[in-house]
Amino acid sequence: MFETSIAGSLPKPAWLAEPEKLWARWQLSGEELDRGKERAVRFWLDEQDRAGIDVVTDGEQSRIHFVHGFLESIEGIDWKKLTRMGIRNNRYEADVPTVTGPVRRTRSVHGAEAAFARQNTKRKLKLTLPGPMTICDTIANAAYERRSDLAMAFADLLNAEAKELAARGVDVIQFDEPAFNVFMQDVKDWGIAALERAARDLPCKTAVHICYGYGIEANVRWKQSLGAEWRQYEEIFPALNASRIDQVSIEAANSRVPLSLIRLLPDKQVMVGVIDVATNEVESAEQVAARIAASLEHIERERMLPCTNCGLAPLPFEVAQRKLGALGAGVARARTELG
Ligand code: ZN
Repeated sequence: MFETSIAGSLPKPAWLAEPEKLWARWQLSGEELDRGKERAVRFWLDEQDRAGIDVVTDGEQSRIHFVHGFLESIEGIDWKKLTRMGIRNNRYEADVPTVTGPVRRTRSVHGAEAAFARQNTKRKLKLTLPGPMTICDTIANAAYERRSDLAMAFADLLNAEAKELAARGVDVIQFDEPAFNVFMQDVKDWGIAALERAARDLPCKTAVHICYGYGIEANVRWKQSLGAEWRQYEEIFPALNASRIDQVSIEAANSRVPLSLIRLLPDKQVMVGVIDVATNEVESAEQVAARIAASLEHIERERMLPCTNCGLAPLPFEVAQRKLGALGAGVARARTELG
């Protein structure tokens, strides 16, 4: 009951990368960097184990960013041709690389990382990949006629990568699609089709993570503009419920999302966010257990998967450590009280 996981990312230690930054620079290089990443992965696998997290992740310790970590080894992208682009419907601007030709995956991207993580934990293992729509919203397109064409091309590469990760013993592959809460019509027109294409024929569980973003300033400002009730999920959940994806996330901790929207996913396992990532304040076990109990008004316990709202990457290292502990302790409490 209450199989628990985190959205994916965790902060990198300060000796590995600049702390509390989303696009942090590595502090090591070459062989030292490789060994450093492994040390950081082992550390977080142990921390999640100690906290009692059931489905652990590598904390994305080997990637510079959750999208560009995947794109770095893809052909057809010109990293020197930077295009200034509004991201997530102009929530913020960034200089992003440009797709200048057909995209191709010529080698494994995260295969070695998956194998390393698998060797270092006995728990179930989840690995994350960026979703096709979110990739297309984080890179400029100068090669494909429509954004949806590019998304389908990326979906094929993601599918090949996901199959390899599953073959290496990964139990859950999660596609991160924060763009799903922004381009709701596109999600219905082609976003879910691209997602299903990325997830097709996988032998493991598949998940999609949709959130209101990391607790960075641009996101906090955006959330303030969304009014008293956040109903973005309402538009896309019915279509997601009809999809072949096994698990869908919902940002529920400290958010203005009506919990009743969980009811739009009657055929899915739902990863319910019970840890807020936009504050350094660490939840108590009581608070987490109360959030779990509140969600059970809308979902049977067998389908409810406690989770974090989003990744913990930009948080101070010790805050993330304590939030992991709070998640584990809160779930333990809920199991006793509600079990
Ligand atoms: Zn997220």
